[in-house]
Amino acid sequence: MKTVTILGSTGSIGASTLDVIRRNGDRFGVFALVAGQNVEALAAQIREFRPKMAVVGTPDALSRLIHQLQQTGIPRAEWPQLAAGAAARVEAAVDGGVDIVMSAIVGVAGLEATYEAVKCGKKLGLANKEVMVAAGELVTEAAAGSGTEILPVDSEHNGAHQCLRAGRRSEVRKLILTASGGPFRDTPVEALDSVTPRQALNHPTWKMGPRITIDSATLMNKGFEVIEACWLFDFPVAEVEVVVHPQSTVHAMVEYNDGSVIAQVCATDMRMPIQYALTYPARDEAPVPRLDWSQARTWQFFPPDLQKFRLLKLAYEAQGAGGSATCTLNAADEVAVEAFLGGEISFPAIAEVVEETLNHVASRRARSIGEVLEIDRESREAARLACSARAARAV
Ligand code: NDP
Repeated sequence: MKTVTILGSTGSIGASTLDVIRRNGDRFGVFALVAGQNVEALAAQIREFRPKMAVVGTPDALSRLIHQLQQTGIPRAEWPQLAAGAAARVEAAVDGGVDIVMSAIVGVAGLEATYEAVKCGKKLGLANKEVMVAAGELVTEAAAGSGTEILPVDSEHNGAHQCLRAGRRSEVRKLILTASGGPFRDTPVEALDSVTPRQALNHPTWKMGPRITIDSATLMNKGFEVIEACWLFDFPVAEVEVVVHPQSTVHAMVEYNDGSVIAQVCATDMRMPIQYALTYPARDEAPVPRLDWSQARTWQFFPPDLQKFRLLKLAYEAQGAGGSATCTLNAADEVAVEAFLGGEISFPAIAEVVEETLNHVASRRARSIGEVLEIDRESREAARLACSARAARAV
C-alpha cells in the first residue's frame, strides 16, 4: 500500500487523482489532502478518503473547514490533523508517512512543498508546471541530489516520457509537443480584442481549471510546457518544437537520429497520465476511453502562429535567456490572467502585460526558493501596475 499526498486535491487534477486512488483502493491510500479555499469539496473528500492530515490555504479557510466537518457527522476523534498555510503544505509533503506526492496546486503556491518533497526524495507526480517554469534549475538540482524521479502528469510530458523510453537520450534529435490551438486557433487576430472570459474558458478538447484554460487559449500554456520539457528531459530550448494538433490525440512525439518519430497517442483523459505517474514503471488497466480504429479519423498538424500567439514566442525567448525570466513570465501571466478574468484587461492585453513585465524586471539567477519567491513577488507587483495602467486608460 502506497500513501499519497495530493497538493491541490480540490482541483481538476486533484479530483482525477482521487478517482484513480478510489479505483485502486487496495494499492493506494491518502496521507494528506491539501487545498486552497474550497472547504466544501475538501470536507467531502475527507469523509470519503479519511486522510491523516488536511491542509487549507488560510486561517479563515481553516475555520470554515472545521465548521464544514461538524456538519459531516464524522466523529471529532476521527478528524484528520488540520492546518493552514505554506509551512503546513510542506509538512504534508515531506512527512515520513508519505510515499508519493501529487503536485497539482495551480501556480507558484505549490512551489515550496513540491521542492521540499523532491529534496527529501519523495516520488513525485508533477502536474503543477509553474514549479518548473519558476524554479526549474533548483528543482532539477534537488532531484539529482535526492535521486528522486519526477514523473510528469501534464499529458504532453507524460507522452514524451513514454516516447523517450524507446531509445537512448543520446539518440534523440528533438522533442515535439502538440497543442490543441485553443478556442481561437482560427480566429483572426483583429477579433481577439473583443474575446470575453466566457469564450476563452471554453476549451475545445480538455476540461481544466480556469488559469490553465486561459493559458491554453493564449498558448502561454504551451510556452510553459516547452520550458517544463527543457528541465524535465534536459533539452536545449531549440530542440523542443510545438505543433498544433486540434484533435489532441497525439500528445507528444520524439524524433530519433535515424529519422524515426515515436508518438504517444491516447484519449483526452487525465486519469491515464495520473495513473502512469502513480504506478510507474508498471502499466495497469486505466479507466480511459479506447481509440476505435474501426472508425475513419483525420489528424491534422499545423505550425503555430507565433505572431498571433506572442506568449509562446516570449516563452521560447525567456527560456533561451536563462536566469529568472521564466519566473517573471509565470508571475506576470498569473496576474494578467486574473485581471482578464476579472474584466480589468482585454484578452490581447495579457501578452502585453507579460511582455512589459519581462522588460521591467531584471533577470538574475535565483539560488534558493526564497529568492525565486522574491522575484515572483517583484514580478507580480510590476504586472499589477501594468494591468492597473491599462484598466485606468480604458475608463
Ligand atoms: P484547478 O484550478 O482546478 O485546481 C487548483 C488547485 O490548487 C485547487 O485544489 C486549489 O484549491 C489549489 N490551490 C490554489 N491556490 C492554492 C493555495 N494558495 N494553497 C493551496 N492550494 C491552492 O487547477 P487544475 O487542476 O486544472 O491544474 C492544477 C495544476 O496542474 C496547474 O499547474 C495546471 O497547469 C496543471 N495541469 C492541469 C491539467 C488539467 O487537465 N487540469 C493538465 C496538465 C497540467 P481550492 O480550489 O480549494 O482553492
